[in-house]
Amino acid sequence: MRKAMLLLAVLGLVGLVWAAETAQTTIINFRCPVCGKDFSTFDELSSHIATAHPGGVLPAADPFIGTWRMNQAKTKSYPGPTPKDEAITLQALDNGLKGTIDDIGSDGKPYHVEWSGLYGQDNPPMGDPSADALSLKRVDANTLECVFKKDGKEFSKWRISVSKNGKTMTATGNGHVVVYEKQ
Ligand SMILES: [Zn+2]
Repeated sequence: MRKAMLLLAVLGLVGLVWAAETAQTTIINFRCPVCGKDFSTFDELSSHIATAHPGGVLPAADPFIGTWRMNQAKTKSYPGPTPKDEAITLQALDNGLKGTIDDIGSDGKPYHVEWSGLYGQDNPPMGDPSADALSLKRVDANTLECVFKKDGKEFSKWRISVSKNGKTMTATGNGHVVVYEKQ
């Protein structure tokens, strides 16, 4: 169970809701690059730019944002008991991500976890009692790196990437490969 939670924390980029919610954890999802106004969907941002800023350039949608469901057939190795079902919803924070996981565990029980993390800094690890920090790095538009630390030292590293076509997300780390499909 500890390993399962570890993966969830990484992947889902999740954990329990961080008690100290701050302004930094406000979900923005789609921000207008011209006026800074926030929208909950890419379509809303798109129509806003078309009407408010004619000729303005629409930023690329973040490929991680959305809901992902675990593909059991393509998943080669899950750390710990493989859940019967796993859905991860990722939302954008200002320079970070919020993850929400809804699982049907290997024991058939549902559970729900949430976690927020900012890029380029140590965040609460959530879900892994052996870690005291989880650093989240945005390598590029389609790649995330998650590193668990204890006393400042790295001991577990995961790479999470979204395919070029935006349909598949793959988490690779510690010999495990878990695959998700965009919903
Ligand atoms: Zn605007």
